[in-house]
Amino acid sequence: MLGAKSIILILTKSALNIKYLAMSLITEFDPWKNELCTCPAKFSLSPYTGCSHGCLYCYAWSYIRDFSNPRPKKDFTKKLERQIKKIPAGSIIPIANSSDPYLHLEKKLKLTRKMLEILKNYDLILNLVTKSDLILRDLDLLKQFKKIIVSISVTTLDEKLAKKLEPQAPSPSQRLNAASKLAKHMPVIIRLDPLIYPLTTEKLEDTIKAIKQTSAIQVITSTYKARGDNLKRMTGVFKENELFWKKLYLERGEKKSGYWYLPKVLRKELIANVSEITLRENLKFSSCREGFDNLNTAACDGTDLFK
Ligand code: SF4
Repeated sequence: MLGAKSIILILTKSALNIKYLAMSLITEFDPWKNELCTCPAKFSLSPYTGCSHGCLYCYAWSYIRDFSNPRPKKDFTKKLERQIKKIPAGSIIPIANSSDPYLHLEKKLKLTRKMLEILKNYDLILNLVTKSDLILRDLDLLKQFKKIIVSISVTTLDEKLAKKLEPQAPSPSQRLNAASKLAKHMPVIIRLDPLIYPLTTEKLEDTIKAIKQTSAIQVITSTYKARGDNLKRMTGVFKENELFWKKLYLERGEKKSGYWYLPKVLRKELIANVSEITLRENLKFSSCREGFDNLNTAACDGTDLFK
């Protein structure tokens, strides 16, 4: 039975939901009902709908119409100026959860830059997540935030493999180079994410050593989770792995929250391996939506840095 406190909490939450559902830009973070998500309460914000990096494994394609044809949000800056005033001080705002703030359009439209110009005047914890070194263009603005974390996503050091996996994204060396430059001014996290067995898991030691060289402070990792559409894209490019992945995920794996996970023993082994190497390199470690929270030495998104 629900106690009075729970009822008040539910009512407050639904009041919040109603309030923020009415807002089209800043919404409560929704991990798509993933039971393993350990993220703190936060919001979602993105200047764009969809993404142009073309990552084969991306989970957002199946949730967003015409995903690979990104477009700017209508009246973005005007709406942002109005809506940001209603967000409580100290809130965590990740940018972006289902897009990349530095996708190709950003070079021309500069919506992310305009967004930073607005957000720098507010007390927020900003977590920018990107695969693009275009972020360096905005270093002057990023330096003006008191509470900022930049997360750069890298899956492999192998440039040819990355080109197949993330055909339109900047190369791994461009991303790590951006991470090094940013780390001189602000906390940088590398998202070694997702781990694609066995394509990206054979040289983890080299990858994490390269991450250490950037002066990043934390590694966040997770394993690739298969869904109908992303598995189709992956097996379309890596045809030689089709049978192997189908057996591994669809026959031996486990289904959680609509995704096929690797068999638990293998998943645990991979995550523990990344954790061990990361800690040996004196970096903080966390895993994302894996259920091995006991291995984490920091919050799963790194935002505990400012809590
Ligand atoms: S950069 Fe992120 S949002 Fe864009 S396609 Fe890749 S995984 Fe998806």
